[in-house]
Amino acid sequence: MKQATLVLIKPDGLKKSLTGNILTRLSETKLDIIAAKIVRPNRELASEHYCQMKEKPFFEELIQYICGEIHDKHKVMAMVYYGEDAIKKVRNLCGATNPEEAEPTSIRGSYGRITSAGIYENVIHASGNETEAKREIKLWFEPDEIIIHLFPTKITEITSKVRVWHDRRP
Ligand code: ATP
Ligand code: MG
Repeated sequence: MKQATLVLIKPDGLKKSLTGNILTRLSETKLDIIAAKIVRPNRELASEHYCQMKEKPFFEELIQYICGEIHDKHKVMAMVYYGEDAIKKVRNLCGATNPEEAEPTSIRGSYGRITSAGIYENVIHASGNETEAKREIKLWFEPDEIIIHLFPTKITEITSKVRVWHDRRP
């Protein structure tokens, strides 16, 4: 069954210049990238993304980590991968949550670490199941940022001001 899954290269992955390596590993899946962008997550987005972790003792550190506060790299690369069994294929390549328990050849096994403060810096996020994927993709991307029609959309009128290029042509 064709599925879409949200992939984030976390701030430690960007700080360590691992983008190319991670994308190369992900290309082994032969899945399609149907959306991609660099995002500066704020606390609101980070807390919503990890809403299921709210009760965990490490929640505050996790939010600081994903916002890039720990790495002084306030950005993540967000992507949607699409294709047959996308969720499982990407999760398998990522490896276990704890980078020390992850298969050594997996992305997390290769590049992750546990900090002295106990945070799992595991360089990549991937949706765990279809419900998570749907919620996460809608949280990180607007419909027009994804090149195929994934979920139902509606047309709504927005009257707020938006920033545009001052002069599109030189
Ligand atoms: P992610 O959602 O980031 O892809 P995951 O689905 O493998 O990871 P979750 O249980 O959703 O694992 O945990 C979310 C994140 O919280 C992990 O990626 C890791 O950064 C952090 N985390 C999870 N468990 C622990 C733990 N026991 N100690 C420290 N940090 C943890
Ligand atoms: Mg998770």
